[in-house]
Amino acid sequence: VTTKDTALYPPERLKTVADAVRESGLDVLLLTPGPDLRYVTGYEAMPLERLTCLVVPAADSGLDPFLVVPRLELPAAQASPAGALGLELVPWEETDDPYLLIAGRLAKAGVATADGRIGVSDRMWALTLLSFRDRLPGPQLVLASVALRGMRIRKSAAEVTALREAGAAIDRVHAQVPGWLRPGRTEREVGADIAEAIVAEGHARVDFTIVASGPNAASPHHELSGRVIEAGDAVVVDIGGTMPSGYCSDCTRTYAVGRPPAEFAVYYQVLKDAQEAACRAVKPGIAAEQVDAAAREPITRAGFGEYFFHRTGHGIGLETHEDPYIVAGNTEPLAPGMAFSVEPGIYTGPHGARIEDIVVCTDDGFERVNNVTRELIVVDV
Ligand code: ZN
Ligand code: ZN
Ligand code: ZN
Repeated sequence: VTTKDTALYPPERLKTVADAVRESGLDVLLLTPGPDLRYVTGYEAMPLERLTCLVVPAADSGLDPFLVVPRLELPAAQASPAGALGLELVPWEETDDPYLLIAGRLAKAGVATADGRIGVSDRMWALTLLSFRDRLPGPQLVLASVALRGMRIRKSAAEVTALREAGAAIDRVHAQVPGWLRPGRTEREVGADIAEAIVAEGHARVDFTIVASGPNAASPHHELSGRVIEAGDAVVVDIGGTMPSGYCSDCTRTYAVGRPPAEFAVYYQVLKDAQEAACRAVKPGIAAEQVDAAAREPITRAGFGEYFFHRTGHGIGLETHEDPYIVAGNTEPLAPGMAFSVEPGIYTGPHGARIEDIVVCTDDGFERVNNVTRELIVVDV
């Protein structure tokens, strides 16, 4: 466990979470492998059918947190940052029922009795959730985000640093993309080069590689196909991965292979101005939906409103998509430390474009973690 780990995953967070459990009126949190467990302990546990579960009772419940792990996962748990938290690790054998083990410990301590409320990780598998419901039939099961959302949505200084590192890594990949976009190559070939670079530039894994050329660029979540890139194509490249820190990158640039169609150049400029306006709208106190409106207004004014049919952005951190969502109807005020994408797009049909940066709300404005140029990059052919 390095000092960097402890800055990102501070050991005192477990105590803060137990306080949040109490304050949100829950009796206990049950966190299985995924972003919630990693956020609280730093442990990136393997999601398996065998149960790994962090149990965090409300502060002052009389029961300390404990981590239930399959016997064969015990060394991995001990070696993870969770092993340095002074947390009781409770291994279970292949023939034990780990759900019953947890239910028994809760019952013995009088935590989460029949009229209680249990928070379960938002991404808990149905397989696990239904097993818990069988062994704990009384208490109400609610989402753990009831307790964790307020913490996870506002990034600490160390988390912002981790997002900057992720942003710089994906920027270095984008800087290489023009060299791979050549007429005659397929989207899949370009995607393979990008995937290799995502890891080479410091990510632990590739999360997605969207290379959407020509008409495919009009489909925002098109991934890769065997389509051959042609001269005159606009190509939307939206890529991201997860860093060893656990924090994610996500950045879109649109490239032109040779001279793009004239109408494309017109709306690309509109899009670039809209993305800039939306970033500039970011500051504490402004509603999330106002950032969406700031992106949408210039696009609509230029007559392209019907071609911008998705929300402007999503929060990012340990997950690529998390709160806050930058969408009409979300009146939640932005606060320092919130991190999210600003990614308007215009998808006319024969082609399309999107520009995406990850932005952090600061004390008095915004900071972009992606800084690779947003000018249209025309690749010479
Ligand atoms: Zn998306
Ligand atoms: Zn993206
Ligand atoms: Zn995104």
